[in-house]
Amino acid sequence: MDPAITGDTNMETILVLAHTEADGSLAKPALEAIAASRNITGTLIVGLIGADTQKAANQIAGCGAAKFLTVTGPEFSQPRYATDAAAAEAIAKAAAATIIIVPHTSRWGRVAAGVAARLSGRADTHVTGISATGITRWYYRQRMEAQMTRTQRPWLIAIDPGCTVPLECAAGTATTTPVAVTVSSRTQVTGIKAPEARQQTIRPDAKLLFVAGAGWTKKQADGATHVPEAAEIILGFLNASKSSLGSSKSLVDISGEGQAVLPFMSHLNQIGQTGSTPRHAKGLSTCCHGEEPHTVGWRFVNERRAISLDPNCGWARGKADVLYVADAFAVMRKVTALLAAK
Ligand SMILES: Cc1cc2nc3c(=O)[nH]c(=O)nc-3n(C[C@H](O)[C@H](O)[C@H](O)COP(=O)(O)OP(=O)(O)OC[C@H]3O[C@@H](n4cnc5c(N)ncnc54)[C@H](O)[C@@H]3O)c2cc1C
Repeated sequence: MDPAITGDTNMETILVLAHTEADGSLAKPALEAIAASRNITGTLIVGLIGADTQKAANQIAGCGAAKFLTVTGPEFSQPRYATDAAAAEAIAKAAAATIIIVPHTSRWGRVAAGVAARLSGRADTHVTGISATGITRWYYRQRMEAQMTRTQRPWLIAIDPGCTVPLECAAGTATTTPVAVTVSSRTQVTGIKAPEARQQTIRPDAKLLFVAGAGWTKKQADGATHVPEAAEIILGFLNASKSSLGSSKSLVDISGEGQAVLPFMSHLNQIGQTGSTPRHAKGLSTCCHGEEPHTVGWRFVNERRAISLDPNCGWARGKADVLYVADAFAVMRKVTALLAAK
């Protein structure tokens, strides 16, 4: 591997960039990015972008930053490439940053490469760890982990949420330095369309990932399908456990095959090679075969259990810590009843 990110003789100027939330505060991914920056030796500068940035600066007043640079104004409250990229570029130049760290949210993911290009720097995205000796990230859908460093500066590092313990520091009254940015944009955000809260099944902060596979919609021992009953059992367990709902590709694809489908399930729930790789402490797979393209999405789930009727399924072949060879309809009804009785 190349030399370390930095040494005593080569101090970095580390800039962490963050957007403020609608209420003016900083969200968890931003606090994680600041915490990750502490692993590198250098001078820390925090750049804040939003309609009002003082509340956020006060929230992290004790984080050890030498400076808080801010781009403030109503036009910077909405996610939009033109304004986000211009604000990030201006702060990075004002800070003379050599390392720029952003949380890899969808908002920062959209501008990360563009900002690096404007600064004649380089960007690495989906980074899972930052240390004094470089960064780590995964390739080929989490099958290979790479440790890397770069000599090019500035180096923009987008760190995935959920990889770092969020910053905890004293609040206070921070002194901020405004950075002037002139922007003109033709794009207006006119509103947000989001599912109703009760339909929200993807919960990144949940302790448990509950995965449903295609077996829930297949013919059961009595020769019939039981899709409405499957939907009721799955939703009952989700409501009782507050877990996050994942799916196999086969189950979310079934709507395309003209079969009955679980109405609350979409491709956003898909876990795996062509789906997502969420981070949860525990995972429970049900009615899913545990094939490699699916289980590769379980890389960051620490404790894995599965319920399948097939004792020879993929989970039995080293993919799960515990496999229950059992009828998931019966097991999940019982588990939900036990949760309700607690
Ligand atoms: C390039 C490529 C990319 C892919 N990407 C993905 C991906 O991102 N995500 C993904 O999931 N797949 C992906 N796949 C597809 C993957 O290979 C599998 O086809 C898919 O995961 C199978 O889904 P499944 O296990 O739900 O369904 P099935 O293979 O049909 O398995 C259903 C299981 O349910 C069990 N079952 C049935 N009834 C019950 C019951 N009552 N109780 C308990 N168990 C029961 C059965 O025994 C069976 O094991 C990809 C494939 C390719 C080629």
